[in-house]
Amino acid sequence: MTFDSELKKRLIVAAAQVVIENAEELTALDRAIGDGDHGLNMKRGFEAVLADVDVLAGKPLPDMCTSIGTHLVMTIGGASGPLYGTLFLALGKHLPPAPDLSGAARAFSAAVTAVKTRGRSDVGEKTMIDVLHPVAGILEAAAVGGAGEDLTARLRKAADGGLEATRPLRATKGRASFLGERSVGHLDPGARSSQLLVHAACGVLSGLMAEAGGQGA
Ligand code: ADP
Ligand code: MG
Repeated sequence: MTFDSELKKRLIVAAAQVVIENAEELTALDRAIGDGDHGLNMKRGFEAVLADVDVLAGKPLPDMCTSIGTHLVMTIGGASGPLYGTLFLALGKHLPPAPDLSGAARAFSAAVTAVKTRGRSDVGEKTMIDVLHPVAGILEAAAVGGAGEDLTARLRKAADGGLEATRPLRATKGRASFLGERSVGHLDPGARSSQLLVHAACGVLSGLMAEAGGQGA
């Protein structure tokens, strides 16, 4: 798959749109188990990214990810700003300019590991990691076993499963951990924003594969 400026632009626009369109829901989720700012934080970050889309899409893929990470660190704030910033900065560090599936899987796993290190968090703590980790797992498995026709469907399903898995969990990281048992029964807002971003990226990539007659991954 060639990450030309048109594809990069479509990915950025889709990611920014899904965050902006769902900002109120993200804020409502954060109102239940946090301080009610996740949607606003994410919207501010992705509006900054969107405002710079032409410059960003003109950069090589790794540089684009690094610049997105810098925008997010500077504008999102809260706990999620440094964490989403870390995700994209690490993608910038680990992605080659034209990744194949195994290069993309390696880079995404490295980026998720960087977020875990930054947040001192892991799967099962009711955070964005509960979505990002299983998505990395599907990519890694596809890099070994081949993409198959339905890779984007499997990625979306992994993201959906990870999000839903946060509902019964008791939060042990971030503001939601202050609630202890009272965090049980709610979806994690950061897991929802990560799931939305995975859906946005998969929507663009599956559309592209359909246009290309089902070739590539
Ligand atoms: P804040 O909690 O500072 O108000 P946000 O509301 O923007 O920041 O983001 C909250 C989200 O950040 C949580 O729903 C969770 O997914 C994620 N998060 C918080 N702390 C951590 C952590 N240590 N590791 C991973 N993700 C975290
Ligand atoms: Mg918050």
